[in-house]
Amino acid sequence: MQDKIWLSSPHLSGKELFYIEDAFEKNWVTSIGENIDGFEQDLKKCLGNNEEIVALNSATSAIHLALVMLKVTRDDEVFTSTFSFVASANPIAYCGANPIFIDSEKETWNMCPVALEEAIQDRISKGKKTKAIIVVHLYGMPAKMDEINEIAAKYEIPVIEDAAEALGSTYKNQACGTFGRFGILSFNGNKIITTSGGGALVCHTKEDKEKAVFLSTQARDNAPHYQHSHIGYNYRMSNITAGIGRGQMEVLQSRVEARRKMHEFYVELFSEINGVEVFSEPGSDYYSNHWLSAVTIDPTITGKNREDLRLAFLEDNIESRPLWKPMHLQPVFADAPYYGGKVAEELFDNGLCLPSGSNLSDNDRERIANVIKNFFN
Ligand SMILES: *Cc1c(COP(=O)(O)O)cnc(C)c1O
Repeated sequence: MQDKIWLSSPHLSGKELFYIEDAFEKNWVTSIGENIDGFEQDLKKCLGNNEEIVALNSATSAIHLALVMLKVTRDDEVFTSTFSFVASANPIAYCGANPIFIDSEKETWNMCPVALEEAIQDRISKGKKTKAIIVVHLYGMPAKMDEINEIAAKYEIPVIEDAAEALGSTYKNQACGTFGRFGILSFNGNKIITTSGGGALVCHTKEDKEKAVFLSTQARDNAPHYQHSHIGYNYRMSNITAGIGRGQMEVLQSRVEARRKMHEFYVELFSEINGVEVFSEPGSDYYSNHWLSAVTIDPTITGKNREDLRLAFLEDNIESRPLWKPMHLQPVFADAPYYGGKVAEELFDNGLCLPSGSNLSDNDRERIANVIKNFFN
């Protein structure tokens, strides 16, 4: 059996160890220290130098914290993209609130502004008030932020941007993660850079950052003893983990370039094959980090489906994966309201994520190309 080719695996630079050793030497083996400050500074610079970053132990925690800061509580309603990873929706349930799922549009595969506005008006007509909108930038592709922010402003609903997959992506030259009231980043092992596990909350003000640090470190009041007036969380990133992040930030640009090259590789490969489309930016306003490259297969043209292609890859020990199964089809959210049509459902039926790592070799690409050529011949 040949070596496994992964969909997206950690790609370390070697520089991470320098920062980890430094933390060991200074004995900052805890959730404060230079690596946390340094990692937050690196992220701030990367996002355009206007935001305040709070490093946390996961993006899931970051979404939860954003909802807590927006005072989302029991029986509130929160909109989110149906076409996403479950972590975009779970934190809504942590608050005792109810997720309302919104379909995608066909260009970016992200939240459809038309379905969003329909949903808002329908909820208003039912006497409900929506507390927040969680917009996802899927596979690194920026959502239609102008349209979504305009609707959100019209109805005065704060936006949380789930940019877990979109570090390094921009919309109209502005970094994803900076458009909403809060932004969220992930450094899970399969993301464009990793800290082994970790996330960040992007805030616009120092006050919000201070509040998020306070809440993520058990909400301890200013007193010599342990004194608490709020419910807190243990969500802060460790100084060791942040050291990995600092090493990864040194190579983020080259990781983005490598992922974008993988996307170009697929565009070229599939240009000869009718009925397969490679997921690409709809225009020059959009700059995707192409965290994952993905295709949709039209079975009526190709006579093949995405599951057959997945199995063909598997036979050669190559990992690929169907696109996200929409949240409104998940058993756990069976009762949640859903607004939209069949865009996300059709993407799930016909789409496949392909190996996209920044660490793939020419030999890996050759194996991938051979499977694809044989499959469609
Ligand atoms: C990975 C991911 C998350 C969760 O990130 P963690 O850091 O693993 O908690 C949330 N939303 C999306 C869209 C993701 O892809």
